[in-house]
Order: sequence, then structure tokens, then C-alpha cells
Amino acid sequence: MFEAPDSPYLVSFDGDFDISKASTQPQTDGHLHKGKHRRAATEKLKTLQRVLAAGDRHSVLLVFQAMDAAGKDSTIASVMQGIDPSGCQVFSFKKPSSLELDHDFLWRTTCRLPERGRIGIFNRSQYEEVLVVRVHPKILSYQKLPDDVNLDNVWNERLTSIRQQEEHLARNGTVILKFWLNVSKDEQKRRFLARLDDPAKNWKFEPGDVVERRHWDDYMLAYQNALNATSRPWAPWYAIPADSKPYMRARVAEIIIDALQGIGLKYPQPTDADRAEFAESRAELDADD
Ligand code: ATP
Ligand code: MG
Repeated sequence: MFEAPDSPYLVSFDGDFDISKASTQPQTDGHLHKGKHRRAATEKLKTLQRVLAAGDRHSVLLVFQAMDAAGKDSTIASVMQGIDPSGCQVFSFKKPSSLELDHDFLWRTTCRLPERGRIGIFNRSQYEEVLVVRVHPKILSYQKLPDDVNLDNVWNERLTSIRQQEEHLARNGTVILKFWLNVSKDEQKRRFLARLDDPAKNWKFEPGDVVERRHWDDYMLAYQNALNATSRPWAPWYAIPADSKPYMRARVAEIIIDALQGIGLKYPQPTDADRAEFAESRAELDADD
């Protein structure tokens, strides 16, 4: 049975996570996702993914959420490096399309949940519905919702829907790990300025990201509320310090490896009937010259 890997960054399950106390800075004793540590983590993940695929019982869902420039894309790329691409899918969720808005808010992510034996990565997710939408409630007016949306409880209702769906998925074999990459406001500023200064990074700069930054405190409140409402033993959140990318990547890789090692993945064992068939196949191959 899946157990949330322990970590100093695990968001407690009792709702008392205080975002203002969550560290954005690396601790000095943790290794970095570099050199031999990175190679060792890659090898472990590769093997675990192979057994996950062979076993075909569990699926793995990795959710990444963060403020802009925290490093979601590069963390996903670096942690999943070396994994068999056919065993892994990444989906990025942007502003919903009109087709997506014709459905309930969990539809588009539900359609993209990983199959058994595979790792699915959500770069942004259903959580945007209680983050960006909560910070900008006017978005609700484009969502074609029934008339009686009550702003006092719509967020708790959404969080309950998300939590219950995750519990359902976990009961049915999905291992869920959620990462909030916790970048500081200062470091975000440095990274935005680097995008403006470095011609090779200009393409990454979006003026809209600076506009969202104005709402930093509202985002932090929305994150705190969402993480408290949905960090549970079957679908834990980890608040990973993101001011150092190599440190962040190492912690994310470690947690994924711990979780997969903890569910006792095994290659399927042949049954007596399989063995009898193997013997027949072998006899046929031996006789074939
Ligand atoms: P990058 O900038 O690295 O390419 P990104 O994830 O920031 O990646 P963008 O296209 O810049 O991608 O932004 C996507 C935007 O879509 C974000 O501002 C996000 O908040 C918004 N978004 C995602 N889901 C929803 C949603 N359900 N409703 C409204 N906005 C959403
Ligand atoms: Mg963006």
C-alpha cells in the first residue's frame, strides 16, 4: 500500500501548514541533482519505471504547481531524464479551451490521467481552479456555471471534489505525488530580470507574468488553503524550496523514488500454467532447425 514518503517538505495532513514558514532556500546538508547523484537517481527511476510498466497495476500521477519562473518545466525535464518516453506522459494545462469549458472543471485533467503502468505528469493541473481562478474570481463568469455560484463556498466545494477524486484514484491504484515548487518573490524577480537581460532567455519573458506577480500575496493564501485542504496520506503535497534548482530537483527525484520503492513493485511472476506454456514454446523452438 502506498505511504507518503517522509520528507521535511511534506505538507502535514492536519491542515496547519503555514506558507509563510515554508522555506524557499536549500538546506546545507541535502545533496544537489548533479553528477553522480543525478546519475544514480536516473538509474533508480529508470528501473522502477520498467517494473511499474511490467506490473501494470499502478499508475503514477505527478502534479507540479508553482508561481511563474519557479522551474516547473526544467524540473520535469531533468527528473524524468532517461525514463523510457513511452512509459511517461507530460500534459501542460493552460487557459481552458471552449471544449473544456463545456465540461465540469475536473474533466480535462481526468481525461489525461495516466494509464496503469505509466507515469503521468501534470504541469499545472485542476488546482488552477482554486488558484488562478480564486485570485481572479471574474474568470468564473466565463465558466458557464449554473447561476447560483456562491463565492463563499465555491472554493471549498472545488477542493472537496479534488480531494475526493484523489482518494478514489488512490484506492484504485494511482500513486499521487504533488509538488509545489516554492520560489521566493526575490528569486522570481531575479529570474524575470535574467529573461529580460539575456537575449537567449527573452522568449521566456511574458509581461503578463509581471502582472500576476502583483497578486503574490493572494496566490500564497490560495496555495496555503489548497495545500491544507488536499495534502492527505494518499495524495501528499510537498512544498519544495525552489530558489536553488539543483537542490529542488534532487528533492523531487528522491520523493518519487521513495514512493515507488515503497509500493513493493515486482515483475509479474509466471503461474504454473504460464510455465507449462513456456515449456511447450521452448520445445517447439528447440525442435525448429
Ligand atoms: P510557460 O510560461 O513556462 O510556458 P506556463 O504554465 O506559465 O508555462 P502559460 O501559457 O504561460 O504557461 O500560462 C498558462 C496560464 O494558464 C497560466 O497563467 C495559468 O494560471 C492559466 N491557467 C491554467 N489553468 C487555468 C484554468 N483552469 N483557468 C484559468 N486559467 C488557467
Ligand atoms: Mg507562463
